Amino acid sequence: MHNKQTADTLLHARWVLPVAPKNIVLEQHSVAIKAGRIAEVLPTEQAKQRWQGLTELDLSEHALIPGLINAHAHTPMNLFRGLADDLPLMEWLNQHIWPAELAIYRPESIADGMRLAILEMLASGTTCFCDHFFFHDTAAQTVIETGMRANIGLWIGNVPTVWGKNETEYFAKAETSLQQNKPHPLVSWSLAPHSPYMVTYEAFQKIKQMSAEFNLPIHIHMHESTAEIAGSLKKYNKRPLEWLDELGLLSSRFICVHMVQLTPSEIELVAARQVPVVHSPESNLKLANGFAPITALLAAGVTVALGTDGAASNNDLNMFGEMRTAALLAKGVSQSATALPAPQALEMATINGAKAFGLDKEIGSLEIGKAADIVAVDLSSYFTQPVYNPLSHLVYAINRQQVSDVWVAGKQLLKNGEFTELDAAAIIAKAKHWAKQALPFRSQAGFI
Ligand SMILES: [Zn+2]
Repeated sequence: MHNKQTADTLLHARWVLPVAPKNIVLEQHSVAIKAGRIAEVLPTEQAKQRWQGLTELDLSEHALIPGLINAHAHTPMNLFRGLADDLPLMEWLNQHIWPAELAIYRPESIADGMRLAILEMLASGTTCFCDHFFFHDTAAQTVIETGMRANIGLWIGNVPTVWGKNETEYFAKAETSLQQNKPHPLVSWSLAPHSPYMVTYEAFQKIKQMSAEFNLPIHIHMHESTAEIAGSLKKYNKRPLEWLDELGLLSSRFICVHMVQLTPSEIELVAARQVPVVHSPESNLKLANGFAPITALLAAGVTVALGTDGAASNNDLNMFGEMRTAALLAKGVSQSATALPAPQALEMATINGAKAFGLDKEIGSLEIGKAADIVAVDLSSYFTQPVYNPLSHLVYAINRQQVSDVWVAGKQLLKNGEFTELDAAAIIAKAKHWAKQALPFRSQAGFI
């Protein structure tokens, strides 16, 4: 009894789903957290002999999982959730989303939109997100201030936006952000060219160079729609993956989001180059872009992560919903009930996102030495009773409000469903303030 080790936090759970090793459900296990990291995962009986926690929690009806990783988001777009729906893509963008962005976005609104998204993500069990947007210094500050973890994409495109005039300016801003932001354990960076159709050939050459120079992954929308493929064939006489491969860009650092339009030989190419793919099934469905061949990509050995995309095209940042949609859609599209089983959906939402962004030494599973990004889900609700297998419920039955407690780097940010640090009421009030200014861009259908 005298030689017990002291943990900052000791969690005794009904189930622990560590994700690595694969497909394991640990019953009556505990997780010891020390200095923000996982010190041990062990049977609760042993944990009580070996450890004492400064804080100890009995999670007797709960499953502990690694914090979910949303591998593709545009978090400030939470301000435009439900602004306009059910419209053809170009009408939706030209008449609603882009003019609203021009009218609203500045550093203050970006931070407020991100805070709203961070509330939603934390309360839904997401502890890390990979963002693709503007105002990178504001984004980094907001992430650090909220205690959330993120990879921030440095946006590049050949169109004017609220963030800049042209590619030259975007590159300059990206370099400034990389030089001026001090390294922080919760923040990592990537280059975020918008897409093959919104970035020039010359800029892609520079992106390749910068990725090597600053050791950054590249986070890009790829092969999302038939229009994108047709445009590339017209301009380059090649499909985007083909000319980007000739440029030498395809590698394990070139993270491709969407990948709806893929031929069998492109699936082989992506597997051979170890290109990670981020699947955003709900955004693909809502924008009617089709179905990514996820079963074939997984069978070819591709690392497939999951992302929600922005709140204007989803319309939530709920990774539990995304897992369920991914699992159901894969079965429907492949006409095989064995496609994308629940354990694989949880891997896509955790360790695969970490691998895609090169963060798997730090996060993505509950293993000794990794950062303590941990989520407790209370399965005692009638939504998820009885429990035969907690993994099944996490993918197929859960209501995201069953997320009870969330830790990022060992710090508890959600406690029994309440935020410990963030002032949700104040953040919602700010969102309402910006929404008043966005109101002229709302779809008017049905309003009298
Ligand atoms: Zn996107």
